[in-house]
Amino acid sequence: MTAVPDLKPTGDAKPASPDVPAGANGVLTIDLDALVANWRKLEKTAVPAECAGVIKADAYGCGTGPVAAALAAAGCKTFFVATLSEAKAARAALPEQAALYVLNGFFQNSGEDYAKYNCRPVIGDLNELAEWDVFCRRTSWSGGAAIHIDTGMNRLGLTIAAAQSIIPRINAGDHGITLVMSHLVSAEQLNNPINARQLAAFRSIASEFAGVPASLANSSGIFLGAPFQFDLVRPGAALYGVNPTPEADNPMQGVVDLRARIVQVREVERGDTVGYGGTWTARRPTRIAIISAGYADGYFRAASSNDGTRGANVIIAGKRCPIAGRVSMDLIAADITDLPPKTVRRGQFATLLGDGITVDELAHHFGTIGYEVLTSLGPRYARVYKGGPAAAPSETPQPAAPAP
Ligand SMILES: *Cc1c(COP(=O)(O)O)cnc(C)c1O
Repeated sequence: MTAVPDLKPTGDAKPASPDVPAGANGVLTIDLDALVANWRKLEKTAVPAECAGVIKADAYGCGTGPVAAALAAAGCKTFFVATLSEAKAARAALPEQAALYVLNGFFQNSGEDYAKYNCRPVIGDLNELAEWDVFCRRTSWSGGAAIHIDTGMNRLGLTIAAAQSIIPRINAGDHGITLVMSHLVSAEQLNNPINARQLAAFRSIASEFAGVPASLANSSGIFLGAPFQFDLVRPGAALYGVNPTPEADNPMQGVVDLRARIVQVREVERGDTVGYGGTWTARRPTRIAIISAGYADGYFRAASSNDGTRGANVIIAGKRCPIAGRVSMDLIAADITDLPPKTVRRGQFATLLGDGITVDELAHHFGTIGYEVLTSLGPRYARVYKGGPAAAPSETPQPAAPAP
């Protein structure tokens, strides 16, 4: 008869934080004070230009409502989203007088929603402008709109010639245009000659829109210098901690911290493999922590380790630990052999982002950019908001998404 092992609870019993449900497997903490500090820094860099806030894609994964409210409380007066549904969410959190632009523009029959959410289309096509005019005339709506002019991206925006063709009517006060803008192709590359070409093209056409505020710079564009800043700058990524100057140190603070629960600690013998495909082999008797997050949570499979390539790190008990084997849908394995024995317990949290692991570092391991890391952050995490306007609740409950 085999001996019955002595079974007793050994897991970590400390709650993650008062704001986090006891059973949460992952916790995403968004530091609204860091967000606001980043906005103020960008504002200072761009002064006398006005500093807007780009809050599309659920505020780059950080949550439209809390981010919009925190920026508005800090003094931000102009916001950009991509779609009308995002405008609806943003408007609910913004003061009535905040200007709200919808980058992806106007469709026939969407006018009522523009009026309802008091937002402004960014118009990039002459037919779109005509449709907008029809709506405005029919309803006497005068909420304003932006004209987007293409200066090299070949994505959205009027050609320079098309923009020139409407100048007489714009200057006669037709269309109610409140902003003229363009978008930079390679602003993160300080010495890319396209920056100067776009600047020259935009400066020339924008100057013909008499009295209409002009805007060219995204986050990185702000750091190309004063000539790029015009009347309004439109930072997104830098607000959320992505480095807008990848050729130099990051002037921004990290905003997002991501921790996920260790759900098992196990011993692996030398020569055994870990995870799908058996691509990672233990070269010594190895201790592995299994962490409750995976590619379904936006932790890309590209960050996996195998016998030839090191993947990303996680931080456990204050130390960086390499990922072992493939990142799977809901789980990541980390090699914790180098931590002192008994420092890691089931139920403890591993840090996946934050504490020195930056969005840009993760992006490097994911084979992408910080923007995609942030906008991929999954719906399964408990979301906790730190700081921000005094009235903001410390936690905004998110609807729990079903596991895929
Ligand atoms: C997304 C976007 C921005 C913000 O860009 P970042 O690089 O995130 O600062 C600004 N302008 C337009 C037109 C955009 O689409």
